[in-house]
Amino acid sequence: MQFSDLSLEANILKALTENKYHTPTPVQQEVIPVVLEKKDVVVTSQTGTGKTAAFALPIIQSLLKVQDSEKSGKKIKALVVSPTRELAIQIQESFSTYAKYTNLRSTAVFGGISLQPQKDILAKGVDILIATPGRFIDLHKQGSIDLRQLKTLVIDEADLMLDMGFIEDVQKIEESCPRKKQTLLFSATMPETISQLAKSMLLQPEKITINPSGSTSKNIGQLLYYVPKRNKTDLCLHLLRKEINGKIIIFRRTKLGVDKLEQTLIKNGCSVASLHGDKSQNLRNKAIEDLKTNKASILIATDVAARGIDISKVDAVINFDLPNIPETYVHRIGRTGRAGKSGIAFSLCSADETSYIKAIQQILQRPLTIIEDHPFPLAKPKPKKQPNTTSNNSKSRKSTNSKKKKRRWY
Ligand code: AMP
Repeated sequence: MQFSDLSLEANILKALTENKYHTPTPVQQEVIPVVLEKKDVVVTSQTGTGKTAAFALPIIQSLLKVQDSEKSGKKIKALVVSPTRELAIQIQESFSTYAKYTNLRSTAVFGGISLQPQKDILAKGVDILIATPGRFIDLHKQGSIDLRQLKTLVIDEADLMLDMGFIEDVQKIEESCPRKKQTLLFSATMPETISQLAKSMLLQPEKITINPSGSTSKNIGQLLYYVPKRNKTDLCLHLLRKEINGKIIIFRRTKLGVDKLEQTLIKNGCSVASLHGDKSQNLRNKAIEDLKTNKASILIATDVAARGIDISKVDAVINFDLPNIPETYVHRIGRTGRAGKSGIAFSLCSADETSYIKAIQQILQRPLTIIEDHPFPLAKPKPKKQPNTTSNNSKSRKSTNSKKKKRRWY
């Protein structure tokens, strides 16, 4: 199938061709026609599968027919709610790429920077607004957001909204929209709370599920290294020196862990950027920019800070700490091997993390490839010594023949 088979307008197709998009990804093939039919949709799909274009393209197409002229005050007709600032910026960039040959205007609003410039842009008028929940609510309260003309609401990464405590905000946002609208909900996983949210907000939605193991992780080599906890940094340095080239993202569970590893890698001459929730917005943007522009070849990040970020051409992911939630593993490795490209993921597993591997393999429905040949192997647990008890049970006594054959140590 080609994009031209999806009955998209010529000026959208032109932008796609310019960006070397020819074949729609599975999520795009399934979602675009349904959104064009104005139906509500619940989509279970990882990032990295092309889901942004799956909602952005049909929204642009629908808005072409109802757009205001460039000069008259534009009214918001599509709202995308995104859990993180980075993701909001990325979604806005996608909209402006795909809508390059239209008059549609989009902007992203998010916290961490001053309100006034965002108010000014909104006052001039936009067709498509991408917003993080907190900043949306602030701007809405202050009267800077007018949703009366809204046609489509997109809730992106709904499960991450839940993890980050934004569900009530999302409900509030939905309530501030007109009742009659199309709602699209995207989530990487579908926990019960999200299904309930979808039921309460969407009207007879189509349900589309894109299998992660069939799309995201098929073209990713997944290697597993058992290693003592104290040797993880050494093994990581070894992999960076000997095994991995190019752009790398290293995941750590904690902010402190990110900072510690960053210092060690810098001391060892690596070019590193880092990303976690305690960093200012400017520093977070700079870290992503540094990796994108090759100023840094390694990005160290926590899960929440990195989720959804599209840094194309990541060659490898290192799971320095294994995630205790298996879906998080799928999100992490989805940073590499994006949109049909191949990638590689290295997972460092210490003795206390072995139970996570079982859960990860279960969700992937395939085993990871264990690499035993490395300088810091985890010693196999020694078999427990049998207690030295002598049984009186005649059955356990050795036969006279066997006694003769064995040399006794006593
Ligand atoms: P997403 O899942 O929306 O974060 O997209 C993941 C990556 O795939 C982004 O870098 C997109 O630019 C890219 N992409 C999305 N759709 C296509 C397509 N049909 N062909 C090639 N690349 C794509």
